Amino acid sequence: MSQENIVKMQCPVCKNVNYWTTKNKKTVTKKLGFSKFCNSCRKHTDHKEIKK
Ligand SMILES: [Zn+2]
Repeated sequence: MSQENIVKMQCPVCKNVNYWTTKNKKTVTKKLGFSKFCNSCRKHTDHKEIKK
């Protein structure tokens, strides 16, 4: 069975889910955070991992 989990990356400003990524729950225990461009905000925001 795969340990890769699909996680959603949400913009904290507009709450849009703009990106998906995968993470290995065995090796990555902390929450992910990426600075990504948000189409709704039209700027880079600190996207955060959210639960499905
Ligand atoms: Zn946004």
